[in-house]
Amino acid sequence: RTHAAAEDRYEHVPYRRAGRSGLDLPAFAFGLWQKFGTDHPYETQRAIVLRAFDLGITHFDNADRYGPPHRAAQQVFGRILATDLAPYRDELVLSTKAGNPIGPSPYLKGGSRKSLLNSLEHSLRDLGTDYVDVFYHHRPDPDTPLEETTGALADAVRQGKALYAGVSNYSPEQAHEAAGLLRAQGVPLLVHQPRYSLFDRGPELNGLLDTAKADGFGLVVYSPLAQGLLTDKYLQDIPAGARAANSAFLKPDVIDATYRERAAALNGIAKERGQSLAQLALQWVLRRPEVTSALIGASSVWQLDHNVRALDFPPLTDEELERIDEHGVH
Ligand code: NDP
Repeated sequence: RTHAAAEDRYEHVPYRRAGRSGLDLPAFAFGLWQKFGTDHPYETQRAIVLRAFDLGITHFDNADRYGPPHRAAQQVFGRILATDLAPYRDELVLSTKAGNPIGPSPYLKGGSRKSLLNSLEHSLRDLGTDYVDVFYHHRPDPDTPLEETTGALADAVRQGKALYAGVSNYSPEQAHEAAGLLRAQGVPLLVHQPRYSLFDRGPELNGLLDTAKADGFGLVVYSPLAQGLLTDKYLQDIPAGARAANSAFLKPDVIDATYRERAAALNGIAKERGQSLAQLALQWVLRRPEVTSALIGASSVWQLDHNVRALDFPPLTDEELERIDEHGVH
């Protein structure tokens, strides 16, 4: 049952150039970190992925680690690719990552050539594809020479198993060094994947935005909604089924009085603009030209449809940005 993709799929989401590369990426990328394991219904997962593609979100972000269990999210995506999206492989940008621990073996973690290249082979089998578009080192490994890690990324590209190389969670200094090492091997760093949101301004404060510009790589920023905290869903209580109710990565205790006060104030600014807090938060990360894409998750088609409309609103004014800054740091 091959999917008949929407004819107008390139009319919803703008594309932005990733750093100084030749690759345009959709302003929204879709990630399969949470609720894409075996613990959620396949038909819901499939509906969300196909809707994303129909909205022009051609970039799907995965990792060997995503599930539960580890590797399951790539198997889910592989199934959708085999049955529905196979005719569209050339229109897809598939990303995967390795190096975040997925087991007790020393070869299932870190930044060694062994870990990275074995993981990539396994991911290609799970995804059911000969190559990924972007292969990332998932997080820095201070115990492995960066030469070895970047050498493995460059070789993955030379072997045709990835088209581009990326890093994630690297400090500005580490990213700068990786960019130099990769450039010297003729495989420029395409993208860096940091966490960035109204509630987490790390990339502004630590200088990563400036490094990205100087070194010419794009930023694909994850958790732009702070895992759902930058939506209106937690203003009153914690809905059953929401991430804060059942994920090890978002504990209910962050939803305290201070959080609610800030979220309510930001929600008020969004309302004045005729949009939701989620839409405001997505516009906010995308206001920066160093940011190529906001990497979002969704547990329903409704969330996805709603969030993708974020760019239908006028840009944030300087006055609005100042008011946001009064409430934005959490
Ligand atoms: P977001 O901050 O976009 O959070 C998405 C979650 O928020 C959804 O799954 C949903 O959770 C909730 N949500 C989204 N929209 C709405 C809405 N309109 N109203 C109410 N709730 C909403 O991003 P994620 O934290 O999911 O991260 C996105 C992707 O980034 C991941 O899938 C992964 O690919 C990547 N990532 C990379 C990391 C790295 O180390 N490189 C680390 C973390 C993420 P729910 O309905 O379940 O409450």
